[in-house]
Amino acid sequence: MFKNKSSVIPINVAVMMIIALIISISVSIAGCGDTSAETSYQPDETTNQVTTAAPTSTTTPTPLPTPEPTPDPALLEPSEDAPVIALTFDDGPSLRDTGKLLDLLKTEEVSATFFVLGGQVEIGREELVKRAYQEGHEIGNHTYSHQILTGLSQSEVRDELKKTSDIIKNIIGEDPTVMRPPTGAWSDEIAAISGELNMSVINWNWQSCPEDWNHHDDPEHIANHVIETAQNGHIVLLHDTNEATVSAMPAMIAGLKERGFRFMTVSQMLSHLGEGHPQAGSVYHTYAQPE
Ligand SMILES: [Zn+2]
Repeated sequence: MFKNKSSVIPINVAVMMIIALIISISVSIAGCGDTSAETSYQPDETTNQVTTAAPTSTTTPTPLPTPEPTPDPALLEPSEDAPVIALTFDDGPSLRDTGKLLDLLKTEEVSATFFVLGGQVEIGREELVKRAYQEGHEIGNHTYSHQILTGLSQSEVRDELKKTSDIIKNIIGEDPTVMRPPTGAWSDEIAAISGELNMSVINWNWQSCPEDWNHHDDPEHIANHVIETAQNGHIVLLHDTNEATVSAMPAMIAGLKERGFRFMTVSQMLSHLGEGHPQAGSVYHTYAQPE
């Protein structure tokens, strides 16, 4: 009996270790804040090396020469329709870069989402917001002063969001229905407050994130990373305050178009892929099950 018992313990330990490993991978997939991005990339790279199975789309005209990355387990099956993607730009508007970006998006007939900072808008950049909206882009709320919301009281969170929604409404005539917390840091309380203000929380897909804040001199990396990792339903985090990002956009758009992607605003894409989405108070990292 004793012998049998002692042989059972290591198996239990092994099972627990496997469960712990699965949980840790799930957590790193779910979390994608700027601050945790480096660690959350590790499992992806490992998985990519051992998997060659590629999601296929019947409408993708030119396959990439390298194997497709591993599909995010939370993603939809590729559909018969062209894959769709939502490019999102945070922290603007920027006097230097946003106008240039809007010119390009217009020429390329690409719709995107701008998560603006209330404090940046109201220092004389209202026209950029108005123009973006009039040209078919979605305007989202990125707080007033880019504070990390998880470090604020509930009333401070509400103030940051409400003040910015009011600024946006004064310009475009309607409240934003999507918000993105600075660095992606959110909590159930923050999601609930966003829901009360009729907004859903929009983070981003960790797999396609080029970490443009770490690549100020490398537009090629920013473009190629997004082109090579993009999948149907991805929400891509970019910054229209980063000159390299705006420089990367012609190549990024061309590469995504070559792969058959269509571009939508976040709300258009979530609604296109899932009836009744986005839902106020829900959190999205990609198109998948809201948390
Ligand atoms: Zn930001």
